[in-house]
Amino acid sequence: MQILRLSLDGAPRLGVVEDAMIAVLPPYLGDMVDVIRAGADGLAAVAAAVPGAPRVPLAGAALLAPIDRFGRDILCTGWNYWAHFDESVGKRGDQEVARPTAPVFFTKAPHAVIGPLDPIAYDARISAKWDYEAEIAVIIGKRGRSIRVDDAANHIFGYTLANDVSQRDLQRRHGGQWLKGKSIDGTMPLGPYIVTADAIDLSSVRLACLVNGVEMQSAMASQMAFTVAELIAELSFGMTLEPGDVILTGTPAGIGSAREPPVFLQEGDVVTTRATGLGAMSNMLIAADLYGASTVVIGAPA
Ligand code: MG
Repeated sequence: MQILRLSLDGAPRLGVVEDAMIAVLPPYLGDMVDVIRAGADGLAAVAAAVPGAPRVPLAGAALLAPIDRFGRDILCTGWNYWAHFDESVGKRGDQEVARPTAPVFFTKAPHAVIGPLDPIAYDARISAKWDYEAEIAVIIGKRGRSIRVDDAANHIFGYTLANDVSQRDLQRRHGGQWLKGKSIDGTMPLGPYIVTADAIDLSSVRLACLVNGVEMQSAMASQMAFTVAELIAELSFGMTLEPGDVILTGTPAGIGSAREPPVFLQEGDVVTTRATGLGAMSNMLIAADLYGASTVVIGAPA
């Protein structure tokens, strides 16, 4: 099942994709997080509502981020494709590290999340080094702590796409902690829908990122350094994961900052994130005032 959120007559609604149409679900089902928290009963209620639900075309629908209610930051994985780790060796300034033996984790602030069709907020005064990172996102379906690798699948609600748009100068500026360069408001597309775990085989998924129609990243999900089950086991080790938590699983090789010469995103660029069975998102960088009255100088002169 492919479940999404859309804006219809000014109100957020849940929908299920069927062929080229969206079955618009009744409001009593709540939002995506309500459905996820309800577990198998939630999915059964969604399935039961689909046959009688009114339809609207998928094309042209005002899609929203599938989740917009967060209990914590977006959980993220760094360097989870070795070709991506290797491409930046020698390009991390004073932050060079050895290839990790355990997953690298960090978080993004929820205010970064935007919908699958929304513009990416862009302000050159915030950063001179805007970069793209196509990623597969895991949606946690069941609470758990210290989840075993062989039980991890039971904690996954489904998968969607994300783009971990990053500001490389901000990422390097703050003591080696990536939070700031990963958390700029309105910069992380999420969507276009959540594919429930039963409806996709990750081993056959190819993930790609295009900029202005040119493919910049492409890799099989099976090339992840640490599997999704291993990520869940390590991340949940002593730390409870909750239904509705979002885990980004890392980006493949081909990021702009590792290219010779580097490629950084500019106003008007269109970033497309797509994967087999997970659909596609296209997001244009549109000028926004993220700077306000700040006196911090990092990107272009204010
Ligand atoms: Mg990333």
